[in-house]
Amino acid sequence: MNQGGKKPRVLTILGATGTIGVSTLDVVARHPDRFEVFALTGATQVERMVEQCRTHRPRFAVMSEPAAAATLRARIAEEGLPVTVLEGAAALTEVATAPEIDTLMAAIVGAAGLPATLAAARAGKRILLANKETLVVSGQLFMDAVAASGAELLPIDSEHNAIFQALPRDFDGDFQRVGVKALWLTASGGPFRTLSAEAIAAATPAQAVAHPNWVMGRKISVDSASLMNKGLEVIEARWLFNARPDQIKVVVHPQSIVHSMVEYADGSVIAQMGTPDMRTPIAYALGFPERIDAGVSALELMGKQLTFEAPDTARFPCLQLAFDALAAGGNAAAVLNAANEVAVARFLDGAVPFNAIAASIAHALDTLAGGPADTLDDLLDADRQARGVAGAYLEARA
Ligand code: NAD
Ligand code: MG
Repeated sequence: MNQGGKKPRVLTILGATGTIGVSTLDVVARHPDRFEVFALTGATQVERMVEQCRTHRPRFAVMSEPAAAATLRARIAEEGLPVTVLEGAAALTEVATAPEIDTLMAAIVGAAGLPATLAAARAGKRILLANKETLVVSGQLFMDAVAASGAELLPIDSEHNAIFQALPRDFDGDFQRVGVKALWLTASGGPFRTLSAEAIAAATPAQAVAHPNWVMGRKISVDSASLMNKGLEVIEARWLFNARPDQIKVVVHPQSIVHSMVEYADGSVIAQMGTPDMRTPIAYALGFPERIDAGVSALELMGKQLTFEAPDTARFPCLQLAFDALAAGGNAAAVLNAANEVAVARFLDGAVPFNAIAASIAHALDTLAGGPADTLDDLLDADRQARGVAGAYLEARA
């Protein structure tokens, strides 16, 4: 039955085959009357995409890798599914901006998601933003595009979704007007929270991706271990909420039950809590402003201890590097992000030690920060150069 006769929302999901994509489809499937799937995208995971096409019957399935698209095309024909297969980066933008859709879930990992997500912002879509790297790289440009087109931006990152929920509904970026003093981002501290600097330096990829509370893609799992994930989230919060860097605080909360908080002038601190399950922020954004069932188990507070501690930027220098990049402005955040992407990939390949991640980012910032960030080309340029500089640095260390 249709919800009060309302038309269903028509969705494209970028990064449908990833962790966030799968959770999004799980919520969507609980509400067949509310949502219709127009397009799904992936990179290489053909069989998962076939299965998603079978279940969700999108009009289009995009594989960014042409070889994977060819395999998918054959499999879709074999299965007799009414799905058109497209390929390449341009097709991501096509399905993200198609006139048929009103809502985009942006859940590609890394700066690879930027062009299509920015295009959707320019096209005035409702954007459910999981792909934090897009905002880290293109902050001002992206927010300007949202403002100019009237696009609607809803955060999926659990911390930012929590802050969004704890802010007044009419918040317009003016902290003073609504009496907001600070935004408190909670961090689990990741799998290395209690390890010594020496043990962290010797950590393996398997240890780094074993997150204590959340099941996530490999890249964000390593970011959580280095606290770069929190650093990226600080930059993300700066842009989403128009916060000054000194208005963004980070507190380590190992239980991941308080997802973030807003501190007000009168001393009130409003927190959003819940079982750590990304289907909660995803359902909140999908249904906004209504609350819809997410399939998430109820929060069990009896017998639980909630603890809070300060982050240690000596053992986790990536968090400080992100604050530094934010202070530097211009292309610095794009450089930070690209260097991090390269270093994390090399670490996951087993080519460099864990502490090479922070070292290569610091080197890339020293070499490249200070450039412009006015156009998409400026940012893609900074991204390309930083990949080169960080890659060469890591090559020398490998
Ligand atoms: P993932 O690795 O599980 O999935 C990534 C998706 O992006 C896959 O569908 C993959 O096919 C696609 N992809 C990868 N490289 C691509 C490329 N070059 N071009 C096009 N598509 C490509 O990652 P994830 O954990 O789902 O995270 C996705 C995004 O959401 C990231 O930006 C992450 O920081 C953010 N996020 C994730 C979580 C979480 O709990 N997993 C929480 C908050 C934010
Ligand atoms: Mg987060």
